[in-house]
Amino acid sequence: MSKHDLITKNLRALTNTRSFRNAVRGWAVKRMIVLGSGPAQACELCGTRFRNGAHIQHTKTAAAIVVGGTCFRTILLSHFPPGCDIKAQRRDIRRKLETTYEGLIDPGNWIKWIVENAPPRLAHSAADLRHFAVLSSPDDLDRLIRFHDARRQFRRAALLSNIRSLEMVLKVKIPAHITIDQAKKYEAKLAAKPKRLKVPLIATEYASESVHPFIVGDPALNAVWKNLEPQERRAVAALAALDEKASPPDLPLCPDALALQWPTPTGTSLFVWHPKIGLGFVGETDHLDGEKAYVWLWRSGSYQRCKYNLQYWRGVKGCSEEAVQALEQNAFAR
Ligand SMILES: [Zn+2]
Repeated sequence: MSKHDLITKNLRALTNTRSFRNAVRGWAVKRMIVLGSGPAQACELCGTRFRNGAHIQHTKTAAAIVVGGTCFRTILLSHFPPGCDIKAQRRDIRRKLETTYEGLIDPGNWIKWIVENAPPRLAHSAADLRHFAVLSSPDDLDRLIRFHDARRQFRRAALLSNIRSLEMVLKVKIPAHITIDQAKKYEAKLAAKPKRLKVPLIATEYASESVHPFIVGDPALNAVWKNLEPQERRAVAALAALDEKASPPDLPLCPDALALQWPTPTGTSLFVWHPKIGLGFVGETDHLDGEKAYVWLWRSGSYQRCKYNLQYWRGVKGCSEEAVQALEQNAFAR
């Protein structure tokens, strides 16, 4: 008896059908078999040894067998509608995974995780993916995505940014590893918060995206920045944001009363600000006679140098937490 005849005979007996075409249909994958280096297993239809196969069960007769290799592939393929364009579907799945995960995980890695973690109810789809990188029922992709997003754990920093500020705003402790669904919940909670409560987070984002990149590009600014206290850095970021808002209509950065909580500048090289002029910087060699100095204005874009009397300016130095928070509220809460 040829191998094909043997397989046909076995399948027909197990399914109570007469034709090979019918006998190959109606099988569902119950559990995948992926053997590493151990002994290979024998396919119960043809006797061939295999490492990648599955426990399958017939939906009508409830017959259960272990299959692998070509037999398994043939049975899986019988689920695909006739004339189905596997290549096009593979492309569609790839595209959908790429748009769903936007660079977080590549489709190959996603499929690998599904294959290794799919529960019995998703074993058939996982087998389709493993063997053909497509699904015999395309709706299963959404079920698999839901399962993946609810179960797979990622390092929290891969899913959320500015975690410390986020924890502060949400008043929660975020575990080191979380699922995509959990990350979405945190984001939804954040979105529901009023803006004034989100200030610590908005401030951190503004500092890292708009202020820090500019400062590290300038050695003189960077040298001063490095020696600033965390509070003073927050003040510089808030002042930069206020400066950006105030220009070009030349509005004051903040109410005069708030500016008066800040000391006049002392020292040689430092960040300074004036409520009606903006944020500035005085370098080591910019000091002139008496209180006069050249101030490099943040606002100018071209980093313009102008001469001012520093006794009318404020220094970003030794500021109080309340004063910094007041600046941040002015800068980021409206
Ligand atoms: Zn076989």
